[in-house]
Amino acid sequence: MENGRSIRVRGQVQGVGFRPFVWTLARRLGLRGHVLNDPEGVLIHAVGADLDGFEAALIAEAPPLARVDAVESHTLQGDFGPDFRIAASTGTGAETRVTPDAATCPACLAEIRDPKERRFGYAFANCTHCGPRFTILKALPYDREKTTMAPFVLCSDCRSDYEDPADRRFHAQPVACPECGPKLWIEPRTDLDPIAEATRHLKAGRVLAIKGLGGFHLAVDARNAEAIDLLRRRKHRPSKPFALMGALDVVCEYAAPTEQERDLLCSSAAPIVLLERIGAALPDGIAPGQVTLGWMLPYTPLHHILLDAFDGPLVMTSGNLSGEPQVIDNEEAREKLGGFADAFLMHDREIARRLDDSVERITSQGPMVLRRARGRVPGTLPLPPGFEEAPQVAAFGGQMKGAICLIKNGQALLGHHLGELDDALTYDAFLQADADYADLFDHRPEVVAVDLHPEYRATKHGQARADQDGLRLERVQHHHAHLASCLAENGWPLDGGKVAGIILDGTGLGDDGTLWGGEVLLGDYRGFERRAWLKPAPLIGGDMAAREPWRNALVRLDQAGLSDWADELFANKPLAMARMAAERGVNAPMSSSAGRLFDAVAAILGHCADGQSYEGEAAMSLEALARTSSGLRRDSLAIGVPVASMIDGALDPSEMIRHLITMRKAGAELADLAFAFHLWLARCFEGAVTTAIAKTEAKAVVLSGGCFQNALLLELMVGSLHQHDVLLHRQTPANDGGLALGQAVVAAARHI
Ligand code: ZN
Ligand code: ZN
Ligand code: FE
Repeated sequence: MENGRSIRVRGQVQGVGFRPFVWTLARRLGLRGHVLNDPEGVLIHAVGADLDGFEAALIAEAPPLARVDAVESHTLQGDFGPDFRIAASTGTGAETRVTPDAATCPACLAEIRDPKERRFGYAFANCTHCGPRFTILKALPYDREKTTMAPFVLCSDCRSDYEDPADRRFHAQPVACPECGPKLWIEPRTDLDPIAEATRHLKAGRVLAIKGLGGFHLAVDARNAEAIDLLRRRKHRPSKPFALMGALDVVCEYAAPTEQERDLLCSSAAPIVLLERIGAALPDGIAPGQVTLGWMLPYTPLHHILLDAFDGPLVMTSGNLSGEPQVIDNEEAREKLGGFADAFLMHDREIARRLDDSVERITSQGPMVLRRARGRVPGTLPLPPGFEEAPQVAAFGGQMKGAICLIKNGQALLGHHLGELDDALTYDAFLQADADYADLFDHRPEVVAVDLHPEYRATKHGQARADQDGLRLERVQHHHAHLASCLAENGWPLDGGKVAGIILDGTGLGDDGTLWGGEVLLGDYRGFERRAWLKPAPLIGGDMAAREPWRNALVRLDQAGLSDWADELFANKPLAMARMAAERGVNAPMSSSAGRLFDAVAAILGHCADGQSYEGEAAMSLEALARTSSGLRRDSLAIGVPVASMIDGALDPSEMIRHLITMRKAGAELADLAFAFHLWLARCFEGAVTTAIAKTEAKAVVLSGGCFQNALLLELMVGSLHQHDVLLHRQTPANDGGLALGQAVVAAARHI
């Protein structure tokens, strides 16, 4: 018997090369013992001289995709054997974590560029530190047989890579080479090299459909304005920004990424990052009216070899029919994308799970997640202190930007972005994701959480599941869920006290039956009070009001006593009918939505008045416009900003609207007016927090809701709140993509 140690490592430590890393480290330090995977993570039994150094190195030198949450150890008496070895996994029902898909690592990239290597030019190279994971996973545990790599039988070379603990590919499930792995081809079929052919099509201004990691993309040459127009016409997508892909040096020709932005671009998650346009110009058709462009780096070997050959930036937009989910199947692609694409770059590795590209940006306040998908899911967040005993919860999110959240064992898993559940196929994808996540995580909820809105498809689904399985159903107010999601992300303890929530959002059903969206809430996970709100205005035509910003402009101008101005601005609109609907309350529900106020101001300043071709277009163009306002003019405050008045909790924007019109008549720059509106909104809500909530009542201020995707608003808001502790979203979306997390923790808090 010897005195050694039992060491437990928790976190993202499975499927990331942790055991071979431990094995190598232990041998280096001359330790004896073993390492294995079990349901709790990685377990090590070791004996030797420097066990403290060993434990420190487990954290300091962990492999790239690992995340060590905790190392716990105690002394152990036993027989540690003659050497150090990797032992068989133990335990059943293992919660074997699957890591997110990871961008090609530097070692694999060097290999596919080296003619001496057998994986030279190979589109499906990967290793333990990179490659497909969640997108190829069919079931747990994560073994090759349970992935879409199953049909590809390892050749002897790949098998020896796979079995050698000293190799980078030890136990890399998707390991492959040109001999044994997936193959690439081009359609229409030719015998020519598929990459050379694909490049030729792109150079000729044609549209290429590319089968990627989580779905198909449609690609065109980003420097070719005609090709971009062609793609827009074929896709019936007049103005929604296209994403771009380019190597880092190419990105730097058109943008000047900061160090933080570079790190994000180059991270293994490889999201689309919104970058300011700086340097050489690209056709405006890529993102009409936007000051930023969404860039991503090539993240699979296929993308790398294509971009190496093409040598320039590509537009890479998701391959789908308008409003539908991204296409993932070869046959489906031929059928649905045949009308858009001139050629297809295809392969025979099946995509098990559709994952859009994640979209993120770096703001003055740090990272911001706009869309959480590939590279981020199925990552989990530890729940805050106090939630240790939380029951298993399934939360189903809202109607827009659908996403599901599961709670289990003190962790929250926020699922991938699904899209707008109005679309039938997206709703199918939602149902599939529900079954899929439940299966993968062996999830057996006791509690189901849904929005208050009875007509959301997600609500109906949650209700049906609760009825069917006899689960407890918790309805969570939309903006309370936004507040709670921000608290959860920030690790705010269950009993951490109340916070003031500034929730600036589109719309969500309030507990008084009206639609909310510009709120100051005082509350915590367990409950809330509504302390202040934007003065409500009717949404003329219901959902139409969100699509046609002139409707919101009309009611805000009328409220401000500027009906003449509305008559002039919107002379070609059915104003009399609209006003009658507003007056009589016919299909004109009242709403305090900040999102709709953005629409109103955008329309007043001449942006998107007639209609938005995508959700958020008016608000995004207002932010873009405000960003062009010159700092000098701002500082001299020629623009001025009126103080918002609050009467019985209602914040009236009329004074601000009158100010905008007066300044506009006086010839002020539109950009300055757009900026003034942002500043007014920030000051207005800072004022509301200060007046409506006593200092002793709230311990911090939470910012959440879709409007906080607006980096300028966020910056101004945080600036106005400099005397408060402010909690923001950094890893989860402030928009409805993060709603399910908030619903889940609110529901959990009711059952602890
Ligand atoms: Zn690699
Ligand atoms: Zn092989
Ligand atoms: Fe919302």
